[in-house]
Amino acid sequence: MVARQQTILPTECIGILGGGQLGRMLAMVARQMGYQVAILEPSKDCPAAPFANHHITKPYDSQDGLLELAKLSRVVTTEFENVPAASIRLLKDFGCQVYPDENSIRIAQNRGNEKSFFRSIGLETAEFKIINNQDDIELIGTDMFPAILKTTTLGYDGKGQIRVKDLAELVVAYQQLGGECILEKLVDLAYECSVIVARNQTGAKCFPLIENYHRDGILDISYIPANLSADILSRANNAAISMVEALDYIGILTIEFFITIDNRILVNEIAPRPHNSGHITIESCITSQFEQQLRAICGLPLGDTEVKIPGAMLNLLGDVWLDNRDAFAKLCADSNAKFHWYEKLEAKKARKMGHLSLTGKDRLLLEDKVMKLKQSLN
Ligand code: ADP
Ligand code: MG
Repeated sequence: MVARQQTILPTECIGILGGGQLGRMLAMVARQMGYQVAILEPSKDCPAAPFANHHITKPYDSQDGLLELAKLSRVVTTEFENVPAASIRLLKDFGCQVYPDENSIRIAQNRGNEKSFFRSIGLETAEFKIINNQDDIELIGTDMFPAILKTTTLGYDGKGQIRVKDLAELVVAYQQLGGECILEKLVDLAYECSVIVARNQTGAKCFPLIENYHRDGILDISYIPANLSADILSRANNAAISMVEALDYIGILTIEFFITIDNRILVNEIAPRPHNSGHITIESCITSQFEQQLRAICGLPLGDTEVKIPGAMLNLLGDVWLDNRDAFAKLCADSNAKFHWYEKLEAKKARKMGHLSLTGKDRLLLEDKVMKLKQSLN
């Protein structure tokens, strides 16, 4: 049973934990819809700052900061999964609605919890073993290799992950990562895709499946809709819906899937927030993932998620910007390209600085344009 939600209308204030690019795009849409925005983000020059009516520059676990956020906001949401659980509890104690809830965020914070949860509701995952010390490694069978060792917490964009092909490499990798890790057997990937699903008291709705391509563990290109069989689409959708139902979830949830070469669907991970792969919904779908998040947390009816026009999203990393100052002109050379820049002060290698969206009816043409743009940046 979905908890009773209050309907929150403009010009009330939406609170956001975090001020990165996801917070920025959420704040932009909130402002466009007439809401006010308050962010709790220690960094003064963060990407969301230009769109926030109120910016509390305090840490995510600052009691004063959380109290200020709770006083300002009718509802608080998060743009990242690593918010301290205690902060969510405090906001609730201060009388504030917070979506998604602490339980869902706690599951998404730990790869081990995530995978156990997926399995508990009957969804398949890659084979995995939790490793807490060198003794645990001795119990790993040779059938687990090749594999990836990942820290269970705080990893993102391929960080905190080491590929290992045998026990000897695993021993070395664990010495590097330490703490609680998860060893995942390497999956024979045919495709990677994601489903973004929103749920509130009015129901649950999925966006069309998105097809994702990674480079060095970081999302590189996404296409909507995914060019995959109807069977895969419906299985991924069913998995997403069963997940939000099981969590009694309110807000936006993203589920990353691996499609294996023998056509199995494995759940990789979840994010209790909008997702990099969903940026293309801004141009391609009737409702963007950010508007949908606002509708979900404000208790409004969810928006239509159909694709108006197929699209592709291309991530722009700091590498490009560092090595190629005239990249902007090159990217805008395609008259169809929509340029998004996150106003991060410093470009660093592998840091997401912005993205580019392209739309068009013909998937092959889209792919061709994406490849040409990528080549122009190299
Ligand atoms: P992150 O939180 O960094 O996104 P992921 O678990 O999604 O971590 O891993 C990043 C990428 O690494 C995945 O999108 C996929 O391309 C690859 N990867 C991760 N785990 C596996 C696996 N078990 N088998 C094959 N590829 C994997
Ligand atoms: Mg991932």
